[in-house]
Amino acid sequence: MNKYLQQLVSLSQIDQKIDSYAPRIESINRNLQLKKDEIIAIDENIEKVDNEISELKAQIANTNSHINEFNAKIKEISKKTSAVKSEKEIKALNLEEDLAKDQLEAANEEINRLERIIDSKNELKSELEMKKTQIQNSLEGISNEVADEIKAIDDERSKIYDQKEKLLADMNQKILTFYEKIRKWAKNTAVVPVRKQACYGCFMKINDKTYAHIIKSDDITTCPHCGRILYKETTQE
Ligand SMILES: [Zn+2]
Repeated sequence: MNKYLQQLVSLSQIDQKIDSYAPRIESINRNLQLKKDEIIAIDENIEKVDNEISELKAQIANTNSHINEFNAKIKEISKKTSAVKSEKEIKALNLEEDLAKDQLEAANEEINRLERIIDSKNELKSELEMKKTQIQNSLEGISNEVADEIKAIDDERSKIYDQKEKLLADMNQKILTFYEKIRKWAKNTAVVPVRKQACYGCFMKINDKTYAHIIKSDDITTCPHCGRILYKETTQE
């Protein structure tokens, strides 16, 4: 193969590798971020449950103050009852006492109900905290894995950059400019193989004359349809 063409094929393979690192790193970091997001969501849930528990406790305190009022009232009524004489007054006070006792009972039931809700909220909270601990533990492992993977990619990347630098130093500037111009629109398919007599960039059939030229590969040939640089693979087809 023509030396310049060989260099272009190598350069294009190097550029393809270089471009593959960013999405690889991104997808590795995405897994880590997903776990972190899970923890944030759990923290938000725990905070919500805490607020609900505080609200329930405030309701209990409020109901307790009502209970005190009802108790005071019942005491007051019984004091009055011992003082009055008429049947009618006693009846009225008894009615009032019954009402206060009903209210007291209802308030006590309400406190029981609120306490049961608090119990279930506390259960939910400990479940959330357990789940958070589990995720934190797995996060530690994942963080280490991610650090290792990124380190490996970085090492590989710096090797590829070295290769590219060496190759560029050796390349003809005009050919390089030509390649960069195609790469601007063709991205990683600026240099493509010909397979089954078709361009592997645009997949159009190459005419016999151009194809013969490519097979000889003593020059740089571009696809007559799309303009990509073409080469004949030595191992395939
Ligand atoms: Zn083409």
